[in-house]
Amino acid sequence: MASLEGKHFVVIGLGKSGIGAASLLLNRGARVTALDENEKATAPFTSDRFTLKKGPFPAKFWEGAEAVVVSPGVPLSKPELVAAKQAGAVVYGEIELAWRFRPEGAGPMFGITGTNGKSTTTALLGELMKRHEPNTFVGGNLGTALTRAYEDPAQKPYAMHVVELSSFQLEGIIDASFQGTAILNLTPDHLDRYASHDEYGLAKARIFSTQPPKGFAIVNADDAHVVRLGRAAKVPLYGFTSDAMRTNAGFTGVAVGGGSKFILAFGDKPVFHVRNRSLRGKHNLENAMAAAMMAHLAGVPTATIQEGLDAFPGLLHRMEFVRELDGVEWLNDSKATNVDSSLVALNALPGRIWLIAGGKGKGAPYTPMVDAAKGKVLGVLTIGKDAPAIADAFKNFPVHGCETIDVAVKKARELAKSGDIVLLSPACASYDQFNHFEHRGDTFKSLVKGL
Ligand code: ADP
Repeated sequence: MASLEGKHFVVIGLGKSGIGAASLLLNRGARVTALDENEKATAPFTSDRFTLKKGPFPAKFWEGAEAVVVSPGVPLSKPELVAAKQAGAVVYGEIELAWRFRPEGAGPMFGITGTNGKSTTTALLGELMKRHEPNTFVGGNLGTALTRAYEDPAQKPYAMHVVELSSFQLEGIIDASFQGTAILNLTPDHLDRYASHDEYGLAKARIFSTQPPKGFAIVNADDAHVVRLGRAAKVPLYGFTSDAMRTNAGFTGVAVGGGSKFILAFGDKPVFHVRNRSLRGKHNLENAMAAAMMAHLAGVPTATIQEGLDAFPGLLHRMEFVRELDGVEWLNDSKATNVDSSLVALNALPGRIWLIAGGKGKGAPYTPMVDAAKGKVLGVLTIGKDAPAIADAFKNFPVHGCETIDVAVKKARELAKSGDIVLLSPACASYDQFNHFEHRGDTFKSLVKGL
């Protein structure tokens, strides 16, 4: 591993990935200047080769630097970064840095992006890959930053890397290359940072731009925008779909799913079952198709994939199974901080639901949830600041004003009968009563476990 002694790097933004980047560089002997506009920024480094400058960026901060490494939270369109690039500075993101400093013998990377489902699909693919190759790194945008994988220059190379990628991270790659890639879906998002939905899509499509000739790309075949982007990939293109008629739509292969199973309609045509309660709903069938197809193309045996699909524990706070008590299933979906997310949960569940909802509302109408709740929700238990608005929206349902989560859990315990589901899916932020959604979910779980 080449030493970076005497070399200077600038790291922009000191969040999770900026700290990972700085740590990787410092451990190789480089001098690092971190810039953060936030006056409250702090750094865990004591090295005399590390300097943190808070506030506005100094003039010509890039001069003499080998590279300017930009955190995903900082747009590359920021005038200071545009100026750095124009002046000839090498500017890239944290994923690119990890790629450049990966040790010899490091195995291929598999990248997953999309508007929704990235974390679920990444964690699921990690589960499938690790069963086949225990020496697999799983992280990126979710969990551990990629630079952390190789922060220690003596780290043994990983055989596989399963990496969740946000569009911001993808903007910052130059040569970082993914053997397998997937774009799950694209819905309008981050329009505060992108001039248009098309521009957002193009940032995502960068994932295809550096793939090796032996690579493959997977797209959601039912999402026309994603398919259009996938056509630009220079590697064989695979699709996943719920439409059995799509098999000949110009893909090298497709996964076709419906209900609780799907088939990879190519090669020896393996069929998989999705009977895991952590993977309920059509959206999770899509995530499962993407992950299983990627694992299959990466060489994971069919039986191992099925075992992984069955054993996947799911992600915390996303329709997370807490316990079954007297035939009642308790689910923690605290991550649902807006109406759209709670809607996904309601659509994914069969019915007989006692819904605990409320918190700091985001101003969007609750009506779509009310429509999805018809015939499924037995009653609503409201908590938090937006309880009156939720009670108003659900006026044709039994509504129990509970104010706090402990009261709601107690009330739900009284009301729910065997075969029912108690679902915490607040459709609101948690800040009125909790520090964050994890705090809300953990509180709920400990109350439920204490019943
Ligand atoms: P991300 O990491 O992209 O935010 P997650 O896997 O954490 O995605 O899922 C976040 C939420 O998005 C889930 O709770 C669910 O409501 C919804 N979701 C998950 N997968 C999909 C999908 N394939 N399509 C649409 N929505 C999804």
